[in-house]
Amino acid sequence: MRTFYIETFGCQMNAHDSEKVIGTLVSEGYAQVENPEAADLVLYNTCSIRDKAEQKVFHRLQQFKKEHGRGKVFGVLGCVAQQEGERIFERAPHVSLVAGSASYSKLPQMLVQLEGGNRHVTGLSLDTGEAFETPYTRRDNPHRAYITIIEGCDKSCAYCVVPFTRGPERSRTSESVLKEARELASQGYREVQLLGQNVNSYRDPSPAGWDFARLLRAMGEVPGIRRVRFTTSHPRDFVKDIVDAIDENPVLCNHVHLPVQSGSTRLLDRMQRLYTRDDYMRRIDWMKKARRNISITTDIIVGFPGETEADFEETLSLLDEVQYDSLFGFKYSRRPNTSALAMEDHLPEEEKSRRLAIVQEKQRMIQIRRNSELVGTVEEAFVEGYNHATGQWIGRTTQNRTLNFIHPVHAGPQDGETLAGGYWNVRITRAGPNSLAGEAVN
Ligand code: SAM
Ligand code: SF4
Repeated sequence: MRTFYIETFGCQMNAHDSEKVIGTLVSEGYAQVENPEAADLVLYNTCSIRDKAEQKVFHRLQQFKKEHGRGKVFGVLGCVAQQEGERIFERAPHVSLVAGSASYSKLPQMLVQLEGGNRHVTGLSLDTGEAFETPYTRRDNPHRAYITIIEGCDKSCAYCVVPFTRGPERSRTSESVLKEARELASQGYREVQLLGQNVNSYRDPSPAGWDFARLLRAMGEVPGIRRVRFTTSHPRDFVKDIVDAIDENPVLCNHVHLPVQSGSTRLLDRMQRLYTRDDYMRRIDWMKKARRNISITTDIIVGFPGETEADFEETLSLLDEVQYDSLFGFKYSRRPNTSALAMEDHLPEEEKSRRLAIVQEKQRMIQIRRNSELVGTVEEAFVEGYNHATGQWIGRTTQNRTLNFIHPVHAGPQDGETLAGGYWNVRITRAGPNSLAGEAVN
């Protein structure tokens, strides 16, 4: 067993977990291959946040089954692995390894068991005290790197599987986070994104005892790092000091993803979100009053058990009030183990779809208006690549907006020349709901 293939679904934490799993496997002498046919070990890193994501996993496992019998070993990692546990061996008997993210630090031992021929290897314990650190992480993006600062979640939102699939909160020491950032800077990375289900509850386990705002300030001082992003913020633990830190240092990106889920305090209470609409709006107010123009984005769930037309209207009025720069909208999906299972999932699928479509159309109009206000201004774009179809460089602003642009001198990546990884000032000439377009001015 010397080659492996890995496929990843789900959030940025999963994407970064896979990078660390790859690093661990490479350190153990495995080589990564690009398709399952060529691999001895086929790994599948899964998501179970909504029912649809989970269905996809079992469908894909059935497809993998065709490869079974050719001496391959299959492993299921991530949230579905943790949630379904050994039941996966029954549902998909060709699978030999089932491991949740809280067990990845034991991957080397699990590999030894697989190599020894054990065909039922599990890593399902959640009572780990540590975050997953690897001597080597294989990063996909050559310019922007993820850094985990906290794993797991100690909240108990009524709809959410994450506390069951990712276990309790474990913060990394500030020293180890900063060391990783300095190493990344020395390797040429200019942009880092701090990751956690709730970065705001970060608490340095070392005697320094830093909170998130303190860590953020220190990250903004790492020589060579030009942009620091972070996700996700839970509104309950979002403090004014975070806004102050962003105001003080332009290295800290002026973008905050602050998932609200609903505009109705009654529903927020049913969801066990631990804040009211007024509490949430106070946080929005801090950001709107900041010196820097902070971009705010969110997540919305429609059709949560008990959501009346009046509750839904409150979500719509919240969108009007906040004027988000972007949002992810979801139809409520019943999840195993969650407390909302005890509530009646009262709305038919069509009604959830109707509400979601209304949210998305309202938000689209808001984005068209907000983005068009930027026409004529100059923004700094970090270049991520080149789009041959449109003949534009693909950039991203500090507010996390896509800003595609043409360059009067560097028309395209002829002769291998590329602007990717660099920063350019771009005058915005056009705006759509989801992106901006412009022309480089330096
Ligand atoms: N920890 C983050 C927070 O609290 O905001 C987000 C975690 S979750 C991976 C991302 C989003 O998925 C949530 O903000 C929520 O909107 C959505 N989500 C989670 N569980 C859901 C469910 N059962 N049905 C529909 N959407 C869900
Ligand atoms: Fe899920 Fe709530 Fe934790 Fe976010 S804070 S991961 S929504 S339980």
